Amino acid sequence: MATCDVCGNDYDKAFQVVSSDGTTRTFDSFECAIHAVAPSCNHCGCRVVGHGVEASGQIFCCAHCAGMAGVEGVKDRA
Ligand SMILES: [Zn+2]
Ligand SMILES: [Zn+2]
Repeated sequence: MATCDVCGNDYDKAFQVVSSDGTTRTFDSFECAIHAVAPSCNHCGCRVVGHGVEASGQIFCCAHCAGMAGVEGVKDRA
């Protein structure tokens, strides 16, 4: 049995995610994993769950947000 790091649910099908800083986190659902691990857009603040846009060391959910934050020449990746 494992307990979710976010909500504390004790769930027999919990899974683990190794985040970019090397720490292993335990979650009972993707919703909790996203809440804890997914980066947020530097412009609008939404969670970047799919392919985000990285520019000038910042992360954005889409090229529009990167542009609004003053990063030029960014296009969405297919
Ligand atoms: Zn949870
Ligand atoms: Zn955004």
